[in-house]
Amino acid sequence: MSNYFRANVDAMAAYVPGEQPQPGTPIIKLNSNENPYPPTPAVMEVLGNFDPELLRRYPHPFAQDFRHAASQVLGIPSNWIIVGNGSDELLNVVMRACTDLEREVVYPTPTYVLYSTLTQMQSARLLEIPYSEDYQLPLEEIIAANGAVTFIASPNSPSGHIVPKDDLRKLARNLTGVLVIDEAYVDFAEENALDLVQEFENVLVIRTLSKGYSLAGIRLGFGIANPQLLSGLYKVKDSYNIDAIACAVGTAAISDQNYKNACVAKVKKSRIKLAQDLQKLGFQVWESHTNFLLTQPPQNNAQDIYLQLRAKGILIRYFPQPRLDDKLRITVGTDEQNQALVSALSLIV
Ligand SMILES: *Cc1c(COP(=O)(O)O)cnc(C)c1O
Repeated sequence: MSNYFRANVDAMAAYVPGEQPQPGTPIIKLNSNENPYPPTPAVMEVLGNFDPELLRRYPHPFAQDFRHAASQVLGIPSNWIIVGNGSDELLNVVMRACTDLEREVVYPTPTYVLYSTLTQMQSARLLEIPYSEDYQLPLEEIIAANGAVTFIASPNSPSGHIVPKDDLRKLARNLTGVLVIDEAYVDFAEENALDLVQEFENVLVIRTLSKGYSLAGIRLGFGIANPQLLSGLYKVKDSYNIDAIACAVGTAAISDQNYKNACVAKVKKSRIKLAQDLQKLGFQVWESHTNFLLTQPPQNNAQDIYLQLRAKGILIRYFPQPRLDDKLRITVGTDEQNQALVSALSLIV
């Protein structure tokens, strides 16, 4: 077949998401950091009573109901909020609005692989700066690089660590480009960087309903920044990027903080137990502020463990790339799921 693609797209490796088995397959799925608990019952009520008139019409272009609800919860005016079709869309929008061949993207590695995929799609210049072995932020190098966009996931995936707010503040103060703080896992952490958006006009904090709110299937994320910064992003997003169902479901979910907090508390409790059980089996476990654990098996056989578990119907994440190919990322499931994993592991290692 002829080659129809731009050279950068042709050269790209496609983003490989965690494997998604058919629903109903008897599988323990601990590979994509989904929440093991269902979304709030308020969500099912919204779906059960959904007004067909809302399906006939185009949805609100800014997902106004969701913005209002998020504004209430965060204590931030709704015009400081942009809603995305998953936070992935917002990452893409920032990339398209702010970068090109001359305007560089910078981020510390290892981190969320999508930053690399989006940069290649955009043909933007890219500078990846490695974290130290113990995940100290390479602050001076990132400041010196002064990207048009700098991505920091905090808490980070796949390491699970949180970037100290003082470091983020120093970045915001010294960078002349946009600092994107990706807080996909913030619901499982003890601190967040939201107040930096009020301190600095170049900070965009991005969050999602996929993890803390058990709504990965609905595709809803949001960004918080100064309205001036958002105005450029609004030019680039699809006009009707949030469908009416996602907007209504997300509004119900973010309005039920008690339910979300209860699920998060269960996950955090299970995280402690799972970490201890893995350590008993000789695994090294990194401190996590998320709903997953980065671990290194006692023998140098991460890929083998991943494959053996897979054969037993337990999916975890293995990254065949430098620095991660001796490690495994395990999503914290229910206590029953975690126990099944630990039992299976005890027969392997
Ligand atoms: C899961 C994840 C996202 C994507 O979230 P969606 O809202 O589902 O698109 C973004 N960033 C990081 C670091 C993630 O782990």
